Amino acid sequence: MFYQKNYEEVLTDLESSENGLSQEKAKQLLEKHGYNELQEKDKVPVWKLFLESFKDPLVIILLIAAIVQIALGETMESLIIFAVIILNSILGVVQTKKAESSLDSLKALSAPNAKVIREGNKLTIPAKELVPGDVVILEAGDYVPADGRLIEAQTLKCVEGMLTGESEPVLKHTDVIEDESPLGDQKNMVFSGSMVVYGRGTFVTTGTGMNSEMGKIAGLLENADSKLTPLQQNIESFSKKLGVGITLLALLIFGIQVGKAFIMGTGNMGEVVLSSFMFAVAIAVAAIPEALSSIMTIVLAVGTNNMAKKQAIIRKLPAVETLGSAKVICTDKTGTLTQNKMTVVDLYMNGTEPEVMNSAESYESNAHSRLLTLCSVLCNDSAIGSEGQEIGDPTETALINFANKNGLNYEDIRNENPRVEELPFDSDRKLMTTVNKTRDGYFMFTKGAPDIIFSRSKYVLINGEKKELTEEIKQQFRAQNEGFSNRALRVLAFTYKEVEEGFSPSIEDEDDLTLIGLLAMIDPPRAEVIDAVAEAKEAGIKTVMITGDHKTTAAAIAREIGIMEDGDLALTGQELDALTEEELDEKLEKITVYARVSPENKIRIVRAWQKKDCVSAMTGDGVNDAPALKQADIGIGMGSGTDVAKDASDMVLVDDNFASIVNAVEVGRTVYSNIKKSITYLFAGNFGAIIAILFAVFANWTNPFTALQLLFINLVNDSLPAIALGFEPTERGTMKRAPRPANEGILADGTMQRVVFRGIVIGIVTIIAQYIGMQVSPEFGVAMAFTTLIFARTLQTIASRSNVDPAVKIGFFSNKYVIGAMVVCFLLYSIVLIPAVRPIFSIPLAFGMQELGICIGLALISTLVMEVGKIFIRKSVK
Ligand code: ATP
Repeated sequence: MFYQKNYEEVLTDLESSENGLSQEKAKQLLEKHGYNELQEKDKVPVWKLFLESFKDPLVIILLIAAIVQIALGETMESLIIFAVIILNSILGVVQTKKAESSLDSLKALSAPNAKVIREGNKLTIPAKELVPGDVVILEAGDYVPADGRLIEAQTLKCVEGMLTGESEPVLKHTDVIEDESPLGDQKNMVFSGSMVVYGRGTFVTTGTGMNSEMGKIAGLLENADSKLTPLQQNIESFSKKLGVGITLLALLIFGIQVGKAFIMGTGNMGEVVLSSFMFAVAIAVAAIPEALSSIMTIVLAVGTNNMAKKQAIIRKLPAVETLGSAKVICTDKTGTLTQNKMTVVDLYMNGTEPEVMNSAESYESNAHSRLLTLCSVLCNDSAIGSEGQEIGDPTETALINFANKNGLNYEDIRNENPRVEELPFDSDRKLMTTVNKTRDGYFMFTKGAPDIIFSRSKYVLINGEKKELTEEIKQQFRAQNEGFSNRALRVLAFTYKEVEEGFSPSIEDEDDLTLIGLLAMIDPPRAEVIDAVAEAKEAGIKTVMITGDHKTTAAAIAREIGIMEDGDLALTGQELDALTEEELDEKLEKITVYARVSPENKIRIVRAWQKKDCVSAMTGDGVNDAPALKQADIGIGMGSGTDVAKDASDMVLVDDNFASIVNAVEVGRTVYSNIKKSITYLFAGNFGAIIAILFAVFANWTNPFTALQLLFINLVNDSLPAIALGFEPTERGTMKRAPRPANEGILADGTMQRVVFRGIVIGIVTIIAQYIGMQVSPEFGVAMAFTTLIFARTLQTIASRSNVDPAVKIGFFSNKYVIGAMVVCFLLYSIVLIPAVRPIFSIPLAFGMQELGICIGLALISTLVMEVGKIFIRKSVK
């Protein structure tokens, strides 16, 4: 067992070393062991999906009716009905598969990475490419990507609840464990799927994929349920009600037709019953929007792809919609609003002139200056790579860059003063400590947030001499810190403490420190953020800054970016803690900056906004941010953040950039409005057909369509144009409107009016067409009604493209999918005009260009009327 051996032996067993595997070896091993992932259960196969579409009771009824018709000799029409049903099912399968594959590709985008050492170099690779023997680096916030034996563990703590059921973090070590032990006691091992909540470490991979402990117990990974979005749920329940309504209507029409035939004693009663029944079922099949759900998934997937292009990866589909109704964005400062490119621009050492720092000589000649350099370079995990690339926390790279700029070499300094102990930085403590062996003995160096450091310091260096830190001197430091912060600078304070050999620090030892000085750095705002904040504001979205940084620094940057305006408040976490619920409720809208916050503060801020029914987005990157990310309506993880934070989020920002959130909101709003456009298009078309049918029933005309025609219209018009509308680009004014209320129904905001209006227009032109045709013969009436309905519905796509602008204004070619879908519709229709096919679709051979021209003319008029109607509907909605 690996835990019973020392790590050198494990490395040898796995033919690896502390420098990791070679790339070549890793490649061979990957071929041998396969990807480091749990196998997924198979997807529903295509044939099963296809068969499932025949589970719909209406389809079954239709099939039975068609079979009966065959028995009665109406072979051709029934065969075509079969063909249409099968085509519809195929289309359904294609749609489902397309929706599935787009979701899969999104999943791939958010797949985790692992930091490995190969051939002595630190690399980041996709976690699925890990192989046994790989040396992997772990830091707080990482998910452990595979099982492994620890080589190094610095206060490394892992939560392994999913394997052991134990929710407390386990402190890891690297010693050999002699006795046979259960997983929970194998403390020199780490296991795939657990997470690092503290410290850091390195391990050699011993088990990957299905050979990891997780793989053994989990067996096959269930395909994650594709959870329905609120709008999908809304539509699903609405469709059900609509289905019942339409079925009742179809029954009514059936009853009326049979009743009429009975009273009038016309024809063969059996035939009448059968054809009326077929017709009623066809109405139900055509009018019930069964494809709606998969059409919506596709439109949502189109949206998520667009977001991915704009650096926002959606992890949970509902977020696409929720984003569209976001009212407040609570965002981190560092890296999200600012560039996270820190540069030291000023310093303060009480009594010592700042200039002495700026040379290599002062490192040798001035003890005060040397200690500041030592603390800033040694109590620091960052590095400059061989190609000059900065590795590690930008706050820390700024410090080594500063030393290098002053003519020193940070690597030499680190080699001369090796680190023997450390307490890693964590954002709750806001401190970091190392113990180093220097030429003057052992020193503990602590750096961190100035206010924390001031409260932990007992002494201060003045002119290189250690003195008692009096209240007066502390005040000078505070004033200096405040001055830096007002210039929007981030300030760190540096301290030391002389210690004995063998001293091992704990958090309690970060006390009685000797204050050396302050370094102030600038972190300029990202250029695009100022516009993004303004755009969000115009879209009715409030931006709130939440940061671990000092209040004055935060407020200064918030003002520069446009987040904080006159009359707004900046609060520290402590001040927030002091507010009662009522006080917070009252002030909430005014508070635009929260500084020095704790993770609990973040949760409280989100809850306060949610209490006011405001859909809130919240960014986060650390382990501690996970609960707040989960609490927020839209948790946004940072691409550079920890796996734990990403896992808790609904969306991940690849570039950490605030502007990408605002872009994502725009896409979210577009997706929502496109879905509504598809829905309006579908419902209005179906409604138009029903109006024409009902009119004919009551006017005692022939049915305007045959059962087959209805099914054909369903095939032609019910999917492609609706999907194409999902590709509509963002409409003018999308980001100038207030966010949509979260619980708004699908028919709100003018959708109902549009469906009714367009449905009536389509219905009327179809009735007129039938009337004109009837002057020749009832068959002509049917042919003309059928043709007009197809054309009016197809052309409706043009009117559906925008709720704001007329079609001419948005440009006919700005959505090529709509053009494509319409061309397909026309081509499909042209099939029924082929002389040999005409009888099946009840189109008389005499139906010529003139009739076709009238139908197209009527359809064009309907589109024009819809365009004019836009103006009135828009006014009535606003
Ligand atoms: P954000 O704005 O994203 O919350 P932040 O960097 O201000 O970012 P934290 O990373 O939680 O927030 O840091 C909190 C405080 O801890 C900082 O303001 C700084 O004073 C101090 N600090 C940051 N990085 C280090 C570090 N590497 N070592 C010591 N102290 C640090």
